[in-house]
Amino acid sequence: MTHCPYCALQCSMSVIDGQVAPGPGGLCQKGWTAGELLRHPGRLTTPLIHGEPASWDEALDFVASRIKEFEPDEVAVFGGGGLTNEKAYLLGKFARVALKTSQIDYNGRFCMSSAAAAGNKAFGLDRGMPFPLTDLRSADTVLLAGSNPAETMPPFLRHIEGARLIVIDPRRTPTAERATLHLQPAPGTDLALALGLLHTAVIEGVLDKEYISSRTSGFDEAWRIAAQWWPEHTERVTGVSAADQRAAVHMLAGRSYILTGRGTEQHASGTDNVSAWINLALALGLPGRVGSGYGCLTGQGNGQGGREHGQKADQLPGYRKLDDPEARRYIMDVWGVDWLPGPGRSAYELLNADDLKAMLVFGSNPVVSAPRASGVADRLRALDLLVVADFVMSETAAMADVVFPVTQWAEEDGTMTNLEGRIIRRRKALDPPAGVRSDLHLIHGLAARLGCAEKFLTEPKEVFEELRRASAGGPADYSGVTYERLDAEQLHWPVPSVEHPGTPRLFLDRFAHPDGLARFIPVDHRGPAEPPDDEFPLQATTGRVLQHYQSGAQTRRIGELMKAVPEMYVEMHPDTASRAGLASGEPAHVVSRRGTVTATVRCVASMRADAVFLPFHFPGDGRANLLTNPALDPTSRMPEFKVCAVRLERACDE
Ligand code: SF4
Repeated sequence: MTHCPYCALQCSMSVIDGQVAPGPGGLCQKGWTAGELLRHPGRLTTPLIHGEPASWDEALDFVASRIKEFEPDEVAVFGGGGLTNEKAYLLGKFARVALKTSQIDYNGRFCMSSAAAAGNKAFGLDRGMPFPLTDLRSADTVLLAGSNPAETMPPFLRHIEGARLIVIDPRRTPTAERATLHLQPAPGTDLALALGLLHTAVIEGVLDKEYISSRTSGFDEAWRIAAQWWPEHTERVTGVSAADQRAAVHMLAGRSYILTGRGTEQHASGTDNVSAWINLALALGLPGRVGSGYGCLTGQGNGQGGREHGQKADQLPGYRKLDDPEARRYIMDVWGVDWLPGPGRSAYELLNADDLKAMLVFGSNPVVSAPRASGVADRLRALDLLVVADFVMSETAAMADVVFPVTQWAEEDGTMTNLEGRIIRRRKALDPPAGVRSDLHLIHGLAARLGCAEKFLTEPKEVFEELRRASAGGPADYSGVTYERLDAEQLHWPVPSVEHPGTPRLFLDRFAHPDGLARFIPVDHRGPAEPPDDEFPLQATTGRVLQHYQSGAQTRRIGELMKAVPEMYVEMHPDTASRAGLASGEPAHVVSRRGTVTATVRCVASMRADAVFLPFHFPGDGRANLLTNPALDPTSRMPEFKVCAVRLERACDE
């Protein structure tokens, strides 16, 4: 048994002769069809140097000799939230020990970094869901803020099917269709709505005052801001009626969960948005109790583990902080080095940096997935050396000087950490095609040519044993986890010893701040970084569809998925279309200050008339991220993927 290569739900599956069979929890259409990629004719099977086939030794020699021409901080590493824990760990070590560069970050920065930052502020520790998924089954109410699991992770819905559902989303998504209450705020006003709901909770008398006084601090400061957000004012800003605000807070008072997703997190105010939802959860007394809580629905397959083991610009293994002197000393001891670089730049800042000479990209396709994508492509093109490790020719790989063909999920052993902080085994089910090697071998091969082969192991189990030592004593402590234990039992981190049963539920007695209290964080609404105006009067928002995953590099190669959703489209209200002289099925240009997307119009009556929606899975001039705004959240450095100002133009006049 192994697990699906895609999202953070990490559904179990078997792979027999390349065919996928579902585990007990079932699979969505993406999971069912994942086996098709294993022997896909477009699979990369030989290294390429400037597009020409090369041997592994030739490609490794070439890359290592070029890297030696540059200063350490002129070389960057860009990782991925789909890499196994072992790969994420070894990649962070490779950057800091072999390359000696501070310039490493990963595409998880674009995923859940705002929720991670807000969780750390409020609770002193970030684990996406600090409780097991199955706890959701006992909830009376679940609020989903900016999450559409009916498309992104359909098997998740079985965990919440008995609960009343409140969905916060400007679109009437398939998840919103199932909701008891769908609140449809204007894009970029999530924070205002959360403040308004806190205000309404106070005036409706549903606060948990005993919990606030015994388990939290800072309520008064948060309330001073929320006090300005009386229901009618909130209604004017968000478009959500005062009656719906009242209905929501009464539904939430009791055994409830508040869960956030990318819709509320991918904003220049993303950390504050999540803090506002956590403030509401704390005011209602939800976190740190069995049967209620706050959690983040992490997106990428190893979005959780990917941020714990050191491929993030500011982190060391064990979820330690890179600027913590004690953490640095500990990790230097484990790694046998006497120096480590300091924190580097965040993902978008790296991709947009003009002082870099080289970049090594592992498991990511930023030419499609990064904001202001044409500018990012220009920067990558201007590098002296772009190296990509992937198993298909992604749009980023197609631009690379050197491409390494690496293994896929069913061809490798390792571990992943799912959205509830549970560590799971990825098991090899078949051999990779000839010519393909693991990223661990690639890292070892480069490290050997840079003079430190002995520090970079290649067997996943050996790397995991080192990861256990490196994480020991850190917030994400895996020291008690072994492959053998994972074969026999379920383990959620922290697991500080081999006798420890793991920690499915965090914060039951105390939160992770030194005083044991959760923090209310005072935050206020500030609106989108780029509000609509006369020139760009509409707001564009982006997201996923059922059949595709992230940049689409994998799912666009699967026939059944492409048949269902073959091309880029833009959803809009029929009135919005007719104002622009457009009709369903016609091509349109969607134009922002950063670029133009060509897409087929889909008229959807439930869409807000002031907004349009674009899926972000398509390449070329259908890239939604040609439009998006790279305004960064000051704490998480998350770009504002979820709202930017656009206008519509007819494309069929050309
Ligand atoms: Fe894979 Fe996620 Fe679908 Fe499960 S829900 S089958 S993990 S894509």
